[in-house]
Amino acid sequence: MAKKVAVVTGANKGIGLAIVQGLCKAGYAGDIILTARNEKLGQETLQKLKSEGFNNVLFHRFDICDQTSAEELRKFLEKNYGGLDVLINNAGIAFKVDATEPFGEQAEVTMRTNFWGTLWASKALLPLLRPNARVVNISSFVSKRALDKCSPELQAKFRSADISEEELCGLMGEFVVAAQNGNHEAKGWPNTAYGATKVTPNTAYGITKVGVTVLSRIQARVLAQTRAADGILLNACCPGWVRTDMAGPKAPKSPEEGAETPVYLAMLPPGATAPHGQLVWDKTVQEW
Ligand code: NDP
Repeated sequence: MAKKVAVVTGANKGIGLAIVQGLCKAGYAGDIILTARNEKLGQETLQKLKSEGFNNVLFHRFDICDQTSAEELRKFLEKNYGGLDVLINNAGIAFKVDATEPFGEQAEVTMRTNFWGTLWASKALLPLLRPNARVVNISSFVSKRALDKCSPELQAKFRSADISEEELCGLMGEFVVAAQNGNHEAKGWPNTAYGATKVTPNTAYGITKVGVTVLSRIQARVLAQTRAADGILLNACCPGWVRTDMAGPKAPKSPEEGAETPVYLAMLPPGATAPHGQLVWDKTVQEW
C-alpha cells in the first residue's frame, strides 16, 4: 500500500506550524510535508522539529501564488507517494490594521494570496486526492462577519447552493475592481469590519475569506458529484483568534489551540460522512 501523505501550506510558523505538530501528536500515520514559500525558513523550521523528535516531517518549497511551484509540488507527490491523503490550505496574509497602502491595493494583494493562491493550490493538488482524503481550507470567522455586511443580493449569491467556481471568481474580481475604484460600498460590498468606523484592511481580508469559505462549499459539492463513492471530506474552518505574527500578541488562543479544529478535520476517520462543505469553528459547524 502506498505511504500516506499530508501537505500543510504556510507551515514555517504560526498556525501552519502548529498544525504540523498537531498532526504528529495526533499520530498521523504517514509523512507530513511542511511547505513554505521561503526555502531557508522552511528548512530551519524542519530542523527545529526534527530536534524535537518530530521525525515523519519533510520539507518542500511551495509558494501558493506561484503556479510553477504548485506544479513542482504536484510532481513530487505523484512521484514519491502516488497521491495525496490530507491537504491543509493554511497559507494566508493580512495587512496590519494601520497599513497605509490604498484600500484597492490591499484588496488586490490580499485577494491574490488568500483566494487565488488557495484556488491555484487546490487546482494543482485536489486531482491527487485518494479515497478517504481530507481537505481543510483555513478561512476565518471574519468571512461570516463580512458576508453579513454584504448587500442582500451579494449575500444571496454567496449563500447559493449552486454558485459555480467561475461565478465566485468573477465576484472576487469585481470586489477588487470596486475597491480600486473606491465604489465598493455603492456596489454592495462592506466598507467597515469589526465595528470600525472607516475602511480597514480587515474589510478586504474578510471578503477574501468569504471567497475561501464559498470556494470550499463549491469544491465539496463537486467532490460529492464526481467522487461520491470515495468518502473524501473537504471543509473550511476558522482556527479562532490566535497569537501569531498575523494576529498579534493579544489574541486569546495559542497556535496549538488554533490548530485543534484543523487537525480534528484532517483526522476525521475513514467512513466518516460529515462534516463536508461546511465552515467549522471550535469543531462545530457554523451556519453560513
Ligand atoms: P502567520 O502570518 O503567522 O503565518 C502565515 C503563513 O502563511 C506564513 O508561513 C507565511 O509565510 C505563509 N504564506 C503567506 N503567503 C504565502 C504564499 N504565497 N505561499 C506560501 N505561504 C505563504 O499567520 P497565521 O498563522 O495567523 O495564519 C494562518 C492562517 O490562519 C491564515 O490563512 C490566516 O488568514 C488564518 N487565520 C488566522 C487567524 C489568527 O487569529 N491568527 C484567525 C483566522 C484565520 P512567510 O513566513 O514566508 O510570510
